[in-house]
Amino acid sequence: MQDIIQLLPDHLANQIAAGEVIQRPSSAVKELLENAIDAGATEIQLILKDAGKELIRVVDNGSGMSPIDARMSFERHATSKIRGIEDLFAIRTMGFRGEALASVAAVAQVELKTRRHDEETGTHLIVEATEVKRQEATACSPGTSIAIKNLFYNVPARRKFLKSNTSEYKHILDEFTRVAMASPEIAFRLYHNNTEQFHLQPEHLKSRIIALLGNKAEKNLVPVTENTELLKINGYIGKPEAATRTRGNQFFFVNNRFIRSPYLHHAVASAFEGLLEKEVFPFYVLFLELDPQRVDVNVHPSKQEVKFDDERMLYAYIHAAATHALARFNIAPSLDFSLSPEIQNLTAISMPVSDAQKEEVRKGLLHHSFSEKGRAHLIDHQNERRNWQQQRSAFFPEMPEPAADNPQKTDIHKETAAAALPFSGHNTFQHHSLLQWGEYLITTVKSGFLLLHQKRALERILYESLSEKIQNGHPVSQQLLFPVAIETSAPDAALLQQALPFLRKTGYDIEPFGQQSFAINGAPAGISSARAQEVLEDIIEQIKHEPSMLKDKEQDRLLKIMARQMAQPKQLSAPEAQALIDELFACAQPQYAPGGKAVFRILSKEQLSGLL
Ligand code: ADP
Ligand code: MG
Repeated sequence: MQDIIQLLPDHLANQIAAGEVIQRPSSAVKELLENAIDAGATEIQLILKDAGKELIRVVDNGSGMSPIDARMSFERHATSKIRGIEDLFAIRTMGFRGEALASVAAVAQVELKTRRHDEETGTHLIVEATEVKRQEATACSPGTSIAIKNLFYNVPARRKFLKSNTSEYKHILDEFTRVAMASPEIAFRLYHNNTEQFHLQPEHLKSRIIALLGNKAEKNLVPVTENTELLKINGYIGKPEAATRTRGNQFFFVNNRFIRSPYLHHAVASAFEGLLEKEVFPFYVLFLELDPQRVDVNVHPSKQEVKFDDERMLYAYIHAAATHALARFNIAPSLDFSLSPEIQNLTAISMPVSDAQKEEVRKGLLHHSFSEKGRAHLIDHQNERRNWQQQRSAFFPEMPEPAADNPQKTDIHKETAAAALPFSGHNTFQHHSLLQWGEYLITTVKSGFLLLHQKRALERILYESLSEKIQNGHPVSQQLLFPVAIETSAPDAALLQQALPFLRKTGYDIEPFGQQSFAINGAPAGISSARAQEVLEDIIEQIKHEPSMLKDKEQDRLLKIMARQMAQPKQLSAPEAQALIDELFACAQPQYAPGGKAVFRILSKEQLSGLL
């Protein structure tokens, strides 16, 4: 019988191997950007044509390559980044498998110009489908410029498989965003079809996030920083308002490498429990830094999946860090001064499997970190109180700071508060005296019980803030993470066009495109992106019935309607409820909703004693 096994011809083997690393233009973009970063570049340009299908060029001012290295860089498993097996466990570079350039060269036409800073001339190299077509000395600036043309030109099946330019470009933007976010100290520029899309200066992480994701991120970022010997975590999580119904703004970086991990995502998401609806994704950008020995990045060709030596510990840690951050900024109710149960229940802490592990844990960094150093799981009540008081005095500037340690001051405080408010400010500091009961909030005040209608309170607050914006001409618009496209009938489109000036004044950022289509890019602050469209449609509906409402003099009625549509009662955390009460009493007319109904009632001691 004839033997049937044959070695694949080289070009086929190369194409198959390339398929693992380069699936689409965005994978090539990622590899090239990472190479530039590994080469120590401080400025990187990405130039694209046709969503990378025609051209992907990356120009960097990094180390550059010698003529021999330039030639070698296209060999499979050729890398300058690891030498021996031990290096594999201490990886600090983005690349290390030596596959990327070999892979792109197998499926595209590649042109490389590179020059080391200490050499006078550079190297010009052309490689097509793995074959070196030309290599010669050339004059060029130090650093590397690499162009990938006509990706998959020799693999028609794959070329056909590419999606529309819009979709491929979106993939590229995703990769660009991740890389640029992880290196805010590097300047980046992105050009697509000769138009500059991004021009990023070296900056701090926060500004980089805003530069990449837009201004709307700014006021919603809550900083996260926790340091232990085991692990450093820093970055930002978004307040609940920044959460979205679609994925895309969840960023984990492990030793500066973007990774996907549904498990660790859950660690953050669960810190938002009770603050977010189900199927809403919190925003976060979190950088984890840990000993490379504890992470295996060599489990997936694209290196977006990694393995940790102790994933559960990491989970607990991240969860605690997120909870801590939310509580410190009065977004979530605080935990007690004790280990949170999920940490206590961790095998690593409560019941190590073996004696050896037990010993490890006892003397180990982890236990120490959690019990002493990081304190991520401990909530600093002192701090929380201070923050809260700052917020409060912002609402009531005439009110002195409560000073429990100074009895004289406390008295002054009580008197002023009693004069300024229908209730004693002091009581309201105690969260336990605040109760949510269906649509009502109940809290104790000096003279009895305060019963407050949540929706009406919200309407009042929103109405006053909208009218203030209209009057002083400073609409506060909140950019939507994903613009909402709406299609209207022709008459509605005309109506909407007419209403645009009014809507802009309230904070809506709406852009017509085409005859009957509009994009909602931003909405008045306080509206959720999900509601932005509904509220808009309601307004159009109202104007349809009464076009005169658009007149300057009558716009007030529209504002009331808008406030009513925007006000959405929900389950509140204690600090949220407290904030609502404070915002209400900062209003000019806290007693009544814009429609005229009472917002709150006080049940006095007298009334109560008549009852009992
Ligand atoms: P890896 O990054 O895994 O080492 P690559 O195929 O991406 O593998 O690159 C191969 C080698 O080529 C790298 O190890 C590096 O030495 C060199 N190289 C690639 N791109 C650049 C660049 N932009 N600047 C300098 N050297 C580069
Ligand atoms: Mg590489």
